[in-house]
Amino acid sequence: MKGIFCTREVSEGIDGKAHSVLSMLNSALSGCSVYCLDQVHSDRIVLAQDLSLGDIPEADAIISRNPDDVLCVRTADCVPVLAWSEEARLIAAIHAGWRGLALQIVEKTIRAMKAMGGRDIHASIGPAIGRCCYEVKTDVIDALGVEPETDGEGSLFVDLPKVAASQLEKAGLKPHAIDMKALCTSCNKDRFFSFRRQGDKAGRNISAIGGKSWSLPGLQVG
Ligand SMILES: [Zn+2]
Repeated sequence: MKGIFCTREVSEGIDGKAHSVLSMLNSALSGCSVYCLDQVHSDRIVLAQDLSLGDIPEADAIISRNPDDVLCVRTADCVPVLAWSEEARLIAAIHAGWRGLALQIVEKTIRAMKAMGGRDIHASIGPAIGRCCYEVKTDVIDALGVEPETDGEGSLFVDLPKVAASQLEKAGLKPHAIDMKALCTSCNKDRFFSFRRQGDKAGRNISAIGGKSWSLPGLQVG
């Protein structure tokens, strides 16, 4: 299965809104059916086959029964997760920030894939804010139900990609089926946008799975 965590040159200068990214990807990947989401930090999962081409549903995960479709999520520190089942010809893209993770969106998406016949599911966790740069308050820690890490000076840190990985495992994926890119979006400023680093003017990193033959700069998956 083909996927990519694009580096920032792909979306440089684009405002990062779903319709802007959708039209850019439609030009870059002509001939593919591309789907983007109106991401709202929810646990709502949609199926591409329930949508019309060009729809931008309010949701934070999307699954397709057609690996020729391209499923996209936009992030700027939140965790992008791409998942697939070669055997069942299923693909999925997930946008998981702390709110989505608190609602178990990663685990729920994998369980939805399994309910659709997904077997031998693999997943890749893309560049996201690292524990190094993700200082939080107790609201985030309480919502996620995780043990925070401390710097010895009273600051609290959470490792969101690790929380995403633990939800993949909870849904039944074995560690060997989980690929973790482990790149911090805030530290790697030449390669990724970061909300923590850039604030409101941050662009959006694009993660996509599916399609036939296309190439964009970034970290290849699968
Ligand atoms: Zn960092």
